[in-house]
Amino acid sequence: MHHLLVINTGGTIGMKPSDRGLVPAPNFLEHYCHTHLFQTIVGLTVSWFEWSPLIDSSQIHPHQWNKIAQVIADQIDQHDSVLIIHGTDTLAYTASALSFMLKGLHKPVIITGSMRSIQESNSDGPSNLKLALSTCLSRKHVGVWVCFHHGIFPGSHVTKIDAVGAQAFSAPIPSDYADLHFPLSTDPVDIQWIDAEKCAIDVFTFYPGCTLDSLGYMSTNNSRAIILRSFGSGNVPESGELTHHLRTALAAGKIVVNLSQCLASSVDMERYQAGGHLLKLGVVSAYTMTFEATLTKLMVLLSQNADHDIVVRKFGETWGYEMPQPQK
Ligand code: ASP
Repeated sequence: MHHLLVINTGGTIGMKPSDRGLVPAPNFLEHYCHTHLFQTIVGLTVSWFEWSPLIDSSQIHPHQWNKIAQVIADQIDQHDSVLIIHGTDTLAYTASALSFMLKGLHKPVIITGSMRSIQESNSDGPSNLKLALSTCLSRKHVGVWVCFHHGIFPGSHVTKIDAVGAQAFSAPIPSDYADLHFPLSTDPVDIQWIDAEKCAIDVFTFYPGCTLDSLGYMSTNNSRAIILRSFGSGNVPESGELTHHLRTALAAGKIVVNLSQCLASSVDMERYQAGGHLLKLGVVSAYTMTFEATLTKLMVLLSQNADHDIVVRKFGETWGYEMPQPQK
C-alpha cells in the first residue's frame, strides 16, 4: 500500500484557455490524474487537497508557504509521500522555502508542474507527473525535491532557467549531491514559519557604471537584509560611497549577503581584492546558493526573532541538500 497526499496549488498544468488567457480550472487535473495515472497503480490510495481558488503561481505569497507546510505537517504521518502540483513561475521559490521550513522530513515531498496544460497534445504534464509519482512511490528521495523534464533536483538548489521550453529547471552546481548530508529524523515534522512582516529583504544588482542611490536608501529603510548581486566569484566595484552604505546597513543590524549573478557560482570573497573589502566589512557569503534559496533561507531565519549573529551563523550552516561552506 502507498498513501499519497496530493496538494494542488494550480499552475499551467491544470489550466484551460479563457478570453483572459490561460486560467486554472478547478477539478480538471484531479480528474485527469485519477483516470490516466492513479488507477493503473495497484495499492495506491490518494488524498487530494485542492486550493480554492487555484492560482497562477506568480500570485503566491509567503503566507501560502505556511499553508502548504501546515497541511504537510498535519498529514505526513497518515501518508507515505507528498506530491505538490505548482505553477512553474515561482516553483523554485516554494521548493526552496519548504526545504528550509520543514525540519525533520523523513518522507518524499515532490513538486512538479508543466510548461503546457495537460489538455494540450504536446503537453509535458503527463511525463512530469509520471516522474513525480514514481519518485514518490520509490521513497528514495526523502525531503523536498523537484521533478521536471527527466530531472530530479533538490528543492533547496533549483532554479527556473527557461520560460518556454520543457527543460525549464536546473540545479546549477553542485552537480553531485550523493554525499551531501540530509538530516533524517523520526521526530514529528517541525515547521519554521515564515512571517512576511518580519523579513523584508532588499536586492541590489551591480552593473558596470551603476549608481548607488538605491543602495543608500536600502541601507536606512526598514528592511532586515540586503542581497548584493555581485559579479563572478563575489566581486563589486570598490568605492568610498559603497563602503559608507554598507557600513550604515551593517550598523543598523541588517544582514548583507554577497550572492553572485552567475547561475553556477561559488562566492569566494578572499579570491580578489574586489571581493575582500566586502568580507572585511562583515558581508556574508551565499557561497553556491541560488537566489531562491538565499532569499527563502533568510526569510526563515529572520522570522525567528534571532539576533544578528545567530542569523549569520545559521545562514552559513548546511540545511538539507546544500553544499557546505568551506571552514576557514
Ligand atoms: N504562470 C504559470 C504559473 O506559474 C506558469 C506555469 O505554470 O508554467 O502558474
